[in-house]
Amino acid sequence: PKLVYDFAEGNKDLKQLLGGKGANLAEMTNLGLPVPPGFTISAEACKVFLATGSVPPELADEIDHHVDALQQKMGKKLGQADDPLLVSVRSGAAVSMPGMMETVLNVGLNDDSVNGLAHHSGNPRFAWDAYRRLIQMFGKTVLGMDGDVFEDAIEQAKQAKGTRNDLDLDADDLKALATTFKAAVKEHTGREFPQDPREQMDLAIEAVFGSWNAERAILYRRQERIPADLGTAVNICSMVFGNLGMDSGTGVAFTRDPASGQPGVYGDYLQNAQGEDVVAGIRNTVPLADLETIDKKSYDDLMAIMATLEGHYRDLCDIEFTVERGKLWMLQTRVGKRTAGAAFRIATSLIDEGVIGTDEALKRVKGAQLAQLMFPRFDTDAEKKLITKAIGASPGAASGQVVFTSAAAVEAAGRGEKVVLVRRETNPDDLHGMIAAQGILTSRGGKTSHAAVVARGMGKTCVCGAEELEVNSSAQTITVNGTTIGAGDVISIDGTTGEVFLGEVPVVPSPVVRYFEGTLAADAGDELVASVHRLMAHADEIRRLGVRTNADTAEDAARARRFGAEGIGLCRTEHMFLGERRASVERLILAENDTDRDAALAELEPLQRGDFLELLAAMDGQPVTIRLIDPPLHEFLPSMEDLAVKVALAKERGEDPGHDAALLSAVERLHEQNPMLGLRGVRLGLVIPGLFAMQVRAIASAAAELKKQGKDPRPEIMIPLVGAVQELQLARDEVEQVLAEVAGSEGVEWVTPVGTMIELPRAAVIADQIAEAAEFFSFGTNDLTQTTWGFSRDDVEGSFFSRYLEKGIFAVSPFESIDREGVGALVKTGVERGRATRPDLKLGICGEHGGDPDSIHFFHEVGLDYVSCSPFRVPVARLEAGRAAL
Ligand code: ADP
Ligand code: MG
Ligand code: MG
Repeated sequence: PKLVYDFAEGNKDLKQLLGGKGANLAEMTNLGLPVPPGFTISAEACKVFLATGSVPPELADEIDHHVDALQQKMGKKLGQADDPLLVSVRSGAAVSMPGMMETVLNVGLNDDSVNGLAHHSGNPRFAWDAYRRLIQMFGKTVLGMDGDVFEDAIEQAKQAKGTRNDLDLDADDLKALATTFKAAVKEHTGREFPQDPREQMDLAIEAVFGSWNAERAILYRRQERIPADLGTAVNICSMVFGNLGMDSGTGVAFTRDPASGQPGVYGDYLQNAQGEDVVAGIRNTVPLADLETIDKKSYDDLMAIMATLEGHYRDLCDIEFTVERGKLWMLQTRVGKRTAGAAFRIATSLIDEGVIGTDEALKRVKGAQLAQLMFPRFDTDAEKKLITKAIGASPGAASGQVVFTSAAAVEAAGRGEKVVLVRRETNPDDLHGMIAAQGILTSRGGKTSHAAVVARGMGKTCVCGAEELEVNSSAQTITVNGTTIGAGDVISIDGTTGEVFLGEVPVVPSPVVRYFEGTLAADAGDELVASVHRLMAHADEIRRLGVRTNADTAEDAARARRFGAEGIGLCRTEHMFLGERRASVERLILAENDTDRDAALAELEPLQRGDFLELLAAMDGQPVTIRLIDPPLHEFLPSMEDLAVKVALAKERGEDPGHDAALLSAVERLHEQNPMLGLRGVRLGLVIPGLFAMQVRAIASAAAELKKQGKDPRPEIMIPLVGAVQELQLARDEVEQVLAEVAGSEGVEWVTPVGTMIELPRAAVIADQIAEAAEFFSFGTNDLTQTTWGFSRDDVEGSFFSRYLEKGIFAVSPFESIDREGVGALVKTGVERGRATRPDLKLGICGEHGGDPDSIHFFHEVGLDYVSCSPFRVPVARLEAGRAAL
């Protein structure tokens, strides 16, 4: 198959093959936009390289062919001594990984052609600048040298010159640097910097392929859940030069503000600069709007092209461009990353502009983004000490101790501390630290700096370009207007306003949460809230899945209801055995005869009845699925170690351990090697007489009471951990007997469906039998994941899961997102077999997966009736259930 494509041969839909950059360069080329000619080597070639360690044998010929064509088009050749063709070798995967992989510019220069370039351009400074950049990027990227070797040499050259501005280095300085760089290459790698342009190109291509598996790229993919086997394409693009003088420059632009979603002119521009300079923050950029005064023609051209691109892609685009002596060139575009708030605002703006429909708008916002908008904000009324105000690059409110290095951030986060990573600027090696930190603060760089772009991608709070801060990483201090802040001092950063405060600032609910809570109206003037409201309404209208909540208390139930929950999918009853009720539970466990046991149960019943009264009242008119007691009883007793020590001490002092000794022997008797697989769930109910009956009586009498008050209680009783239909049948008989007794003695009627959790593989497989005795199933996907994989969640997550993720055994923890192939297949089996027996079987899911976007799509596909999740995830689940129905 063909491995190399001219830019004119591709299009934007070929991302898998050509990578995002290549596909969009092709699209722009075909739109007639000014793209420097070039070609793309497909990701297929990369896959071969990654699998075998070398590029496919036929690749060289194909590249030759395209190089020839390019040389012809450009009227100059690679390595041509008087006027060399130069190219960039650029990575570009199907999924954008900003700054994660490598690019080498100015490929094709050597000791000869640099002179030709100097002569032909009439600008020796430019030629030597280009050459030293090539050696620097090549050394770092292709030869794996430490970037500091080059940075330090540049720093020395500037110092010798008594300047801090790279533009003060003249042709001679840069020529000297090129010589120093070449010597450094020789010293560090034992080989000369390659002079043959084609060799430079081939080595750079292999380096780009190899960069797919760079540590930071792997980390980024894991963070963003990008598959590990996509590989990257490579783009060979003829060079255009922004470093030819002040009439040249390079920049980044957005067709709308990626932070707020507002229309307008957004971007950064830097005169007399090349490529990475804008993002790296070596000099401070000017706002894109200033280009209008610097170079009106290029500015107007750019505005026109941005309008074309937005119209064409029907979405926010981000753009890289270069101006070479007054001529505008487009180097990259893509549908741009944006903050969560911008995603919602852009989606509804585009509806209003008639560009997209409401379904399409709903497709473009994600549950994860909505979750971000629900994070708390700083309290505007709180007393705060503002230290500076800079650029709000990625919204959020973050407080934490100041750390100056990525390593320190990772270490502190490991200790459970909150930190804010403070740097002059970040680079791709800071990714670990950025992930570990609550927020990122930089003193250089704009909205398009590395820190800003990556933070937005991760949904992490970021303030950048805080120029008033003097960040001294080696001394571990920040000085700002006379104040000094050291490592470990707490600061707070507001990624929306760009404000930086000393100390921790209290937080308040976000406007979106206040909207869900009902304390902020959709039409109160907050545009973001209005956008969220519109898209939520559409999701609610089209979703088929119901959304319930997991709530154990009336308070949680009430909150979830305000957030849109349509009932409770899981009420755990464990907490009803805790607190001061432990004493009764101990008596229950220690009971030696029926009388003692019944007495203990009788103490518990009215207390639990009170709990159910509140809960059922809070969810009046909506179903409340109550799971009878699930955990092993010893979980309610003190630990065996503590008791043993207490008893031993008492004996030593010559005292009678009495009650403690009895408890200890009970704990020893109940001790289990594998409590997760022990005496719990329905097994408890069948073994401890009266336990389930007590709970059911409490539920039923609470319901009867509410019924008499004219309310509409809708309890549903759920039996956990069933593996055989006989277990369920026995438990069910007891439940129904109690329900009938209470209804009879209270003289009221109501309906209480009885069902079970499906959380053992056996239950899923024999769901047809189980459905005989169950009116509903709720898939307990936490336990089902544990029992299917044979993982004990508490034991595996902290130990080897990170290794499994690294090795790609799974892309995401199966406890976070449903394992479709294994656990999911059991869910599907349970659905099919259950419904075969009982077509009107009600089906839900109450594991943590109920709030996970990918899992929600799966549950929609297999035909569940509802998902149940924690109260705060309810809006996310509603939105994703709507998106799943699209
Ligand atoms: P990234 O994916 O990290 O942005 P790019 O391949 O886009 O990497 O290139 C890095 C920088 O070099 C960008 O600023 C880009 O615009 C610039 N660049 C890439 N190719 C060329 C070229 N042919 N001429 C001029 N600048 C280029
Ligand atoms: Mg780029
Ligand atoms: Mg369970």
